[in-house]
Amino acid sequence: MRTTTGVDPGQHGGGQPDARESAVQTSADGASSEGFAVPGFDAVVRLVSRSLNVPLVALVLHGGTAYWFANGSALPPHGSRVLHPLYMDAARSLEPLVVLDTQADDRFKDVTPAPGASSGPVRFFASEPVCSLTGQQIGALCVMDLAPRVELSEHELTSLRDAASLIGAGVVLRSYLGRTDPITQLPHRYAFFDDLRRHFQDAAPLAWVIAIDVAPVQRFNAFIRAMGHAYADELMRAVAQRTLAWLPPDTRLYQVGASRFAAVLPDRHVEADTTRLDDLVARLREPFDCLGIPLTIQPGVGLLKIGENELRGGDPLRLVMNASYAAQHSVRGWAVYDRQQDELQRQEFFLVTELAAALTDRTELDLHYQPRVDLDSGRCVALEALARWHHPTLGLIPPSRFIALAERAGLMRSLTQWVLEHGVAQLAAWRRKGHDIKLSFNVSSTDLGADLVNRVQQVAERHKVGLDSLELEFTENTLMEHSATTRRHLTAIRQLGAGIAIDDFGTGYSNLSALRQMPATSLKIDQSFVRGMGTSRHDEAIVRSVADLARSMGFRVVVEGVETDHLYDSVLAMACDEAQGFHIARPLPPADVLPWLTTHQGMPSRRVV
Ligand code: C2E
Ligand code: MG
Ligand code: MG
Repeated sequence: MRTTTGVDPGQHGGGQPDARESAVQTSADGASSEGFAVPGFDAVVRLVSRSLNVPLVALVLHGGTAYWFANGSALPPHGSRVLHPLYMDAARSLEPLVVLDTQADDRFKDVTPAPGASSGPVRFFASEPVCSLTGQQIGALCVMDLAPRVELSEHELTSLRDAASLIGAGVVLRSYLGRTDPITQLPHRYAFFDDLRRHFQDAAPLAWVIAIDVAPVQRFNAFIRAMGHAYADELMRAVAQRTLAWLPPDTRLYQVGASRFAAVLPDRHVEADTTRLDDLVARLREPFDCLGIPLTIQPGVGLLKIGENELRGGDPLRLVMNASYAAQHSVRGWAVYDRQQDELQRQEFFLVTELAAALTDRTELDLHYQPRVDLDSGRCVALEALARWHHPTLGLIPPSRFIALAERAGLMRSLTQWVLEHGVAQLAAWRRKGHDIKLSFNVSSTDLGADLVNRVQQVAERHKVGLDSLELEFTENTLMEHSATTRRHLTAIRQLGAGIAIDDFGTGYSNLSALRQMPATSLKIDQSFVRGMGTSRHDEAIVRSVADLARSMGFRVVVEGVETDHLYDSVLAMACDEAQGFHIARPLPPADVLPWLTTHQGMPSRRVV
């Protein structure tokens, strides 16, 4: 415990508690509110005032709000708004503080009473930290007297400590009752709705709701995992403070989610000046210094214009969350609610739920297989497994839609596992029937972890299929994005004997030296160039030179998107090894593959050209 003597909380005027004058709350931001609605708060204050025999008690919160009591009663509004730093130090220190005589302390002995205070300066001051049940500091309980003390007995100290504990528990209880967040002390979601309703009752036809997301949920959870809850709490308080400093005077800020704030702005405020929003984003993008560790957040500011009718039965917070979510991923950092975007997000959510169910207990997913033909022999040497989703009410959903969705929803690994299991089981059945074919799979960037090697190996072993009859296709960008670690995993896969293809080559941004280092076995030239060959000499030149280059680098060259016999003949004349496309066969449902393999006569090949 720090024990010192000498303080005058009244020096800056704001904190000076005057026993005769009555004040309720002063706050650092100038806002005032009706009393402190902690259950039993007044009773605890009276108890502490009596057992320590002090006329003045104050609860000073971390954010700078103070609740004053004189002789056990709450005081009416105090004129001054700035708290003496002593109170703020106490509110933010985990150490109790006892100042037996403020006049005997060098730091405080020149302090005079606040202007207008008719009583003398505070001579005795003691404070005890107030913490929530989870140990986060909320503020400090301060007791004061106009006369100095010689000592503070153990009994009195214990009373002060107990009172602070009771208030801490009460603050948490209050937050359970739905009014205030125990960490930031900001009003909660229910208070937000009450106030929004009141806004319309006051005859304002419109309002802007603003929501501030501190960071995408995943990232915020990562903060907590890495830095702990105390750090995240401190960050929330700091973001709240910056936002409060930006908000128009007398505007309340609400904590409406673990990492989200909201406020109601008057109609004119937003429409008048959008540069103000740029300013808010710029302020929030400035690094925060929390507990001595700097951190930059990824804020998203969402806005929603709302009338009273929309409030009835609607959920403005859900709507504005859509805007703040979109804003987090935008350059500008703020966005106005967009109904179309909202509809897309709702559909996406619905699809994600459906896809997750389809992956576990339904029979809506399917694989189709598209033949790949060797240009030397004209025979089918491989099949590419392509996922299909037949939704019971929405019909066939193309992979271009659900693959990206699975990526965003974290379902990609399950999807790839499903494709591997079903594809390899199917391949094993065809090989048992004497068809010497390989199977290629599309694998996404999220699959590219160390365990991919094991997953592929286990599936192959389970179905007794040699790894040399499997090939994994990665898009060009996936391979280039993860170069160093990717290369290690791919090398391990190669060492097991499985092939690796660079898919959609030409659509990405690979450089030649990275390409040379990739342990890939084949390179698939993207269908956009191949299709363009019919009409563009440019595209023909691209396909020809990419094929030459890839061959000379040791890759097997596969041409995708061969739709016509003319295109087929063109690639036959180039340095290409395999062709794939609608001209040869469309992706086939599993039941059609065997008939196709057994009846297909073979494509024109170099052998007969
Ligand atoms: P991709 O891997 O490049 O597969 C080739 C796509 O081109 C397939 O589309 C195929 O149906 C289509 N295609 C083949 N030949 C022709 C042609 O001659 N003309 C035209 N216009 N298109 C042709 P699909 O099945 O719609 O798949 C689209 C993409 O979705 C795939 O491109 C692949 O990137 C991804 N995908 C499909 N299944 C899976 C999967 O199981 N896992 C992952 N990660 N991605 C998948
Ligand atoms: Mg592919
Ligand atoms: Mg492709």
